[in-house]
Amino acid sequence: APMLVAIDGPVGAGKSTVARAVAQRLGFTYLDTGAMYRCVALAAIEDEAADHVRDVAVLHIDFEGDRVLLDHSEVTEAIRAPEVSRRSSQVAADPHVREALVDRQRKLTERGDWVAEGRDIGTVVRPDAELKVFLTASDEERAARRAAQTGRGLEQELADLRERDLRDRTREASPLRRAEDAVELDTTGLAFEQVVERIAALVAE
Ligand code: C5P
Repeated sequence: APMLVAIDGPVGAGKSTVARAVAQRLGFTYLDTGAMYRCVALAAIEDEAADHVRDVAVLHIDFEGDRVLLDHSEVTEAIRAPEVSRRSSQVAADPHVREALVDRQRKLTERGDWVAEGRDIGTVVRPDAELKVFLTASDEERAARRAAQTGRGLEQELADLRERDLRDRTREASPLRRAEDAVELDTTGLAFEQVVERIAALVAE
């Protein structure tokens, strides 16, 4: 039977790295739903500059292995810019955007085995997921991990992630929360391999 592992949690809890590794280990396909919100944010920024507006419904968002394509152009790096991160949590508060992306995420994961990662996979996108994991870590650890990735200062990363967290947690449309039947995993002080191990063990149960 097809299987879906949902991995949700706040910014910087290690979701992407962990989800990607779990998928590889199990031979499942990895879905980065945050990348889809980032594409919508990038499109909004581009549209402002070009003085026109694309509707989310007509945006082409495609994944080719680790590459992300927006309207057939590669945006893998571009969607990671701090400006896009900030903008993505703003566009994610728009119910119209969420509805369009959630619908695509459901269709994408209909067939086959998936590890899908985001904020609302276990609560909204696929409440029927066979396994739900809610990853957390202390604010300081999350900021330190991001600073190591981006090369920016710790204080800057801490401020950014708190701002995005607050928006994700307090928005009206599907706020970030742990599904009641999700396994909560606090990754503070854990090595990434230990987290992957724990989740793989849960899948095997
Ligand atoms: O996970 P990532 O940081 O790439 O996600 C970018 C933004 O997209 C998040 O700050 C969050 O606001 C939004 N998001 C969401 N629901 C998801 C995935 C991401 O609202 N399933």
